[in-house]
Amino acid sequence: MNKGKIKLGLIGGGPNSFIGPVHRIAAYMGERYDLVGGVFDIDYEQSKAFAEKLELDASRAYKDLDDFISGELSRPADERIEAVSILTPNFLHYPMAKRLVGEGFHVICEKPITMTAAEAVELAELVEQKGVVFSLTHTYTGYPMVRQMKAMIAAGALGKIHKMDAQYYQGWINPFIHEKDKRAGVWRLDPAKSGQSCCFGDIGVHAFNLLEYTTGLTINKVLADINTLYEDNPLDVDGTALVRTTDGVRGIVRASQIATGEENNIVVTVYGDKAGLRWEQENPTYLKFMEEGKPAQILKPGNPYLSEFSLESTKIAPGHPEGLFDAMGNIYSGTAQAIRKESYRDGAFPTVQDGVRGMNFIEAVLESSKNGQVWVSI
Ligand code: NAD
Repeated sequence: MNKGKIKLGLIGGGPNSFIGPVHRIAAYMGERYDLVGGVFDIDYEQSKAFAEKLELDASRAYKDLDDFISGELSRPADERIEAVSILTPNFLHYPMAKRLVGEGFHVICEKPITMTAAEAVELAELVEQKGVVFSLTHTYTGYPMVRQMKAMIAAGALGKIHKMDAQYYQGWINPFIHEKDKRAGVWRLDPAKSGQSCCFGDIGVHAFNLLEYTTGLTINKVLADINTLYEDNPLDVDGTALVRTTDGVRGIVRASQIATGEENNIVVTVYGDKAGLRWEQENPTYLKFMEEGKPAQILKPGNPYLSEFSLESTKIAPGHPEGLFDAMGNIYSGTAQAIRKESYRDGAFPTVQDGVRGMNFIEAVLESSKNGQVWVSI
């Protein structure tokens, strides 16, 4: 049985990638992983140069996934990479995860997990069959104050929940969307690489996940209105989805990549009959607790009044802000606990089942909008 630091590989996440640095730094934060090798970039020369820069063993900078798998499996079991992070554009998540899980590697995968809900279900069955750990990096679930929100709602601090609202607004597609030749350079707007959805696949799914994560409720109905902005743009760049849970709680998921001037404006609010809670990603160390007839309270990380789950998700004393890297670090740490068969908390990392939920949501949003904004079951 493997012990000690977990040998980690990366697929994607190379020199110019957006999310790669977040994963690499996060992996080291809990001191549970060693980055050993991978296929860091689609370009082999870039991948090798990157491995050299990181002072990794050159023989573990692989050309492609086939090379990676045969190279690693040919090593003695105690030297092999044990867990692999898949950080490529969306269309490669499923084929790569399927092969890696099939060969017995633990997988840490970027969202959306697959291109279709059927693929996600198939992958979940394979994960179960192989008994490996599969962690889906819905990064925002790693923030201490999101975990506090989850713990407070579970403890009944809001009373009976009757309304929930998640917004994820960005504006970065605005400069590209208006001219066809500019759009061509954006893989997220290409159905072959991005999948069935741009906005809901990329960010709406995070908002959906945050509602289910914080409330513990299951969303089972969606009525959506999505917007591609131009007829010759096949994928959504904006939209709104009304949601209902199995016990009838109403809510809304609002997502946009054309909210001009917005950076990464995520806001999650949950209201109960006793109180409300609001968390905003651009100010992640503040959790606002609102009670009827009382001044609002601002809860902050690392303080003794917080839940154990939130406190365990903070590395430093109150007043020293932690952010996105730390949130991803918490997901890596939770995943490490599962890989090493230690006990871990519910919600320590999103799983393959969260991936299935996310894909079901994305497909229900698209179906609802296509059929004229009708309720669709998830
Ligand atoms: P990116 O275009 O910046 O980087 C993609 C990387 O994948 C590049 O290094 C590229 O060379 C590499 N790559 C492409 N094809 C490859 C192949 N066949 N083999 C090996 N490497 C290959 O993309 P990004 O913005 O970093 O997004 C990557 C993924 O991360 C997407 O699925 C996206 O949805 C997800 N993402 C998640 C979050 C989050 O908050 N969890 C944030 C941003 C992106």
